[in-house]
Amino acid sequence: MYHHVKQLMYTVRVDTPDPRFGNMLLEQFGGANGELAAAMQYSVQGINCEDPERKDLLMDIGTEELSHLEIIGVLARMHLRPSKSKRTAAEADPLIAIVGGGGINLYNSMGSPWTADYLKVTGELDVDLRNDIAAEARAKITYERLMNFSDDAGTLDALQFLMTREITHMKAFSLALESMGKPMLSIGLIPPTPGIVDQYFNDSTGEGDRGEPDVRGPWNQGGSWEFVEAPAFQAFRSPETGERMSAEGGKRNGGPRKGHS
Ligand code: MN
Ligand code: MN
Repeated sequence: MYHHVKQLMYTVRVDTPDPRFGNMLLEQFGGANGELAAAMQYSVQGINCEDPERKDLLMDIGTEELSHLEIIGVLARMHLRPSKSKRTAAEADPLIAIVGGGGINLYNSMGSPWTADYLKVTGELDVDLRNDIAAEARAKITYERLMNFSDDAGTLDALQFLMTREITHMKAFSLALESMGKPMLSIGLIPPTPGIVDQYFNDSTGEGDRGEPDVRGPWNQGGSWEFVEAPAFQAFRSPETGERMSAEGGKRNGGPRKGHS
């Protein structure tokens, strides 16, 4: 159950209202990486969750995000309030000014309505937690960009708090995933196909006009990696055997395989 306490989680103060900045703040109210999306994503995942320990975590953080939604809503409202009566302020966000009378609503900064499509809910706890870690990273960088575009001390103080909490959540979600004890590449139950799983397809080869390099790194060499050079140019099948032939006509090991033998 939810209960509203008539107190903000963090005190909000705006020294000088800035309607254009208020419009930007709507990204964290009704935007893709905003607080409502976070609150709903974790809460819905929590309702689905059958692991009582991590369900507790999802509901705790989902509920805290609702408190963040309230903070960012109050902050955006303070910045957008003048748009009800002042023409130049109204130009910062005509939708909020004309339809909303200076009151905020669940839109992003470009006036697109909030949508459940923002949520990533898979019903697979470890996959959901990866989504949540990514969501916190997106929220953090969004707050940082907003902070770069304001010099209002009260506003920056509230945004610093909200930004900090996203790192706290990212830490909690990361440790919750780690404590499940699943190997990093173990997703679901069906194992990947041996051999194919270790093939790296070098699908962009050569050096670019501006010197863009073809790079080797731990993501494609060492360990069990098999580096497959330009598989598209080697995709000629031998009519007799059905086996893959190289561009030179020779039989190749490696390269993408389709079908079963
Ligand atoms: Mn938040
Ligand atoms: Mn968060």
